[in-house]
Amino acid sequence: MELYNSSVASNLQVKKTMFYKIFYEEFNVGFSAPSSDACNVCVLWGNRIKNERNSEKKQKLMVELRVHKIRAKAFYTHMKGNPPNSISLCFDLQQVQALPKTPIQDAFYSRQISLYNFCVVPLNSKDPWFYTWDETIAKREPTEIGSAVYDYLSSMNIDNNVDTIRLFCDGCGGQNKNNHIIHSLMQWLYSKSPAQVKEIHIFFPVRGHSFLPADRVFGRLEKELRKIPVITTKDGYHDIFKNHGNVRLLGNDWQLLEIKDLKENFKNVEGLQKIKRVWIKKTVKRQMTIGCEIKASQYYRFDGNDPWQTLLKRGKRIPLTIDVAESIPQPVSEKKKKDVINLLEKQFGEEWTALPELQWYTTILLHVTEEPAEEHEYDCVCNEEDVGEVRV
Ligand SMILES: [Zn+2]
Repeated sequence: MELYNSSVASNLQVKKTMFYKIFYEEFNVGFSAPSSDACNVCVLWGNRIKNERNSEKKQKLMVELRVHKIRAKAFYTHMKGNPPNSISLCFDLQQVQALPKTPIQDAFYSRQISLYNFCVVPLNSKDPWFYTWDETIAKREPTEIGSAVYDYLSSMNIDNNVDTIRLFCDGCGGQNKNNHIIHSLMQWLYSKSPAQVKEIHIFFPVRGHSFLPADRVFGRLEKELRKIPVITTKDGYHDIFKNHGNVRLLGNDWQLLEIKDLKENFKNVEGLQKIKRVWIKKTVKRQMTIGCEIKASQYYRFDGNDPWQTLLKRGKRIPLTIDVAESIPQPVSEKKKKDVINLLEKQFGEEWTALPELQWYTTILLHVTEEPAEEHEYDCVCNEEDVGEVRV
């Protein structure tokens, strides 16, 4: 649907900004890509308010929904802000890509090998870096996410005037919003960051309102991926990613780090799942960086009167390095192997194992490995409703 047509509009006595104002403010229609899925709190509370007959309860629901929306907006206000001497980045995992990607119908019901793609990108959504791996070499847990962010921060050229790095990511506890990531950022700031960088600020959106610049990057990728019906190899995906940004392959360009080991040194931030903002700063004494401190708040418009804490456990220091994790092959279930073999036979015939480009599949599918341990679910509260705060 085209809401604004420049050839028609040129005959009108109004400017594009007027359309923008009306659509955006009156109808809540954005000109930039909106999130395709509606927020379940906004939908559910909207219905509850409509159906509630008790005026006191109705009033309470209305206040809750209003605060929820103001909070959602407050996150974006931070994201749009461009404080001096800062760099602002966002990171996110793309939807899983399937190997092999094939148009044959069985694929719809088949288990396939998952290819993961994690993106770190400045807020202007230009020059993304893609950290990619597949399920046979690593999971998608804090270790993977934290190691990729660590690599990005360590590889980045940081101007001399930059003293603050701002990070925006959605609040999925199993991946982004957990103490392992916080610990690794504290360690990086203390031991790896250039001298001019003094602080890291992290912002988490209201659930249901988490459209980030990385999603814009994924939109561009997925548009191209939709045009290509068959992608058989990892390289096939990497080539497409390369059209959009810098591709970094796990094991070649970046390594997994034992960021979970940092819990030996650091305590956890209490109640992290409710936290919306985190501040980490270097502790400096007589021009020497002697440590790191952290502060966290459940509110966007509150700078947190809580005291700074070191999070250090008794008698512990911040380690200067983090060990590189040993690479452990991740077993593929026999059921999944059977499905993938079936797809490859359908696509390439019985003799698929003889095809050089399918060699990777023969190594992961035709050897007997132990069955994977049962899928370990992180205590993720991503599906909990993000509503009920009384302050912004
Ligand atoms: Zn909402």
